[in-house]
Amino acid sequence: MQKIEHIGIAVKDIEASEQLYTLLLGTPPYKREVVESEGVITSFFRAGPNKIELLQSVSPEGVIARYIEKKGEGIHHIAYAVTDIKSEMTRLKEEGFRLLSEEPKKGADNKLICFLHPKTAGGVLVELCQERED
Ligand code: ZN
Repeated sequence: MQKIEHIGIAVKDIEASEQLYTLLLGTPPYKREVVESEGVITSFFRAGPNKIELLQSVSPEGVIARYIEKKGEGIHHIAYAVTDIKSEMTRLKEEGFRLLSEEPKKGADNKLICFLHPKTAGGVLVELCQERED
């Protein structure tokens, strides 16, 4: 793992949260993107070298909507940057971590991603991110 790539925050209303984070960070989001495969609308902010990803569910049955129902709005996942997602996935699987997908998926902000189940990662949903080249 290279560094924390971003922190994902689950929100109910992306418009309202974009306004809040624009005030908080003193800068507007640089990108808003729908990720169909994950059923989310994402919005990205920079804070110096760090990134914050807001996530709103596109439907009431989506994973983010269900997460908010259970736990409320707030920190949803920590994403780590990796250079070779497939070899990291193999390594982590061998170490006993449970992957939520067998293959990397296309994520927001030009990334290949894979999530690790929080049960095997100390209660934290972990995302691996590799820069995509297309
Ligand atoms: Zn993320």
